[in-house]
Amino acid sequence: MKIAIFEKENSQDYELRNKITSLAQEHSIIFDESKPDVVFFIGGDGTFLRAVQHYLDQLDRVIFVGINRGKLGFFYDYDPSSVEELFSQLVEKKLSLHEFSLLKGEFIDEEKEKKIYAVNEIRIENPFHTLISDVLIDGELLETFRGNGLLVSSSLGSTAYNKSLGGAIVHHSLSCLQFKEIAPIQNRELHSLGNSLILPSSSRIVFRGHLSNVVIGYDHLICQSKNLKEIAISLSSKKVRVYYSPSHTYLSTVRKGFIE
Ligand code: NAD
Repeated sequence: MKIAIFEKENSQDYELRNKITSLAQEHSIIFDESKPDVVFFIGGDGTFLRAVQHYLDQLDRVIFVGINRGKLGFFYDYDPSSVEELFSQLVEKKLSLHEFSLLKGEFIDEEKEKKIYAVNEIRIENPFHTLISDVLIDGELLETFRGNGLLVSSSLGSTAYNKSLGGAIVHHSLSCLQFKEIAPIQNRELHSLGNSLILPSSSRIVFRGHLSNVVIGYDHLICQSKNLKEIAISLSSKKVRVYYSPSHTYLSTVRKGFIE
């Protein structure tokens, strides 16, 4: 087995790194930063999002496992005090493997087809003016939206930005898409759905309009496309695989994250 460590930028966590190195030696596990089988991501939730983008072309092989260094960790079951336990469970093949589909965004940028991938959500936002966009689902018009932005979340991302917008929390084992509006303008003349809409995994959601000032956000990343006319969002065949502890439950993640 080949492993790699992925840390937040400028990390000076030498103690934890040394601990992992000596545990790896003890278990005859070698390091390979460029083609690992298992990636230990150390930090907060943002570190996981960055690790997935870093190894995007190797998701068929790579499995991620998190060691939490931040205050909140939705993708983590381990912290520095439980690294020994993590290594023995890894070697004894006792870890619980979970697989999640990434979101895919497709649009034309300067006459070239562009694809982006996200763990949590893909969104369009207009920081300057009212965003006006048609929302089409599988080719059928749902609404013409006016407001700040539009977002499509994965189940895994339902506890992130989507939750701040009042979206539903969706169990991470459910394969579906959640459409949510960001600050819709609603009055007696302008109407839009308002609520979350949870859609089957096969759905294709298109935002269409004059979207040139729009910022496309995907997880921690953003991009812009001059003369953007539409973006299509669907679930990708790319999957990210994560090891959790054998006793992991989704409810415990939700409870620790929001209630305890
Ligand atoms: P970051 O790493 O500081 O993350 C921002 C917050 O989102 C953190 O508190 C993090 O713990 C939490 N988070 C990320 N993924 C989560 C998930 N799946 N479930 C629950 N909480 C989660 O900042 P960043 O690196 O820019 O992270 C990008 C993410 O931040 C985006 O994917 C988006 O979901 C989130 N975000 C949230 C808001 C909001 O809630 N208003 C606004 C912008 C971005």
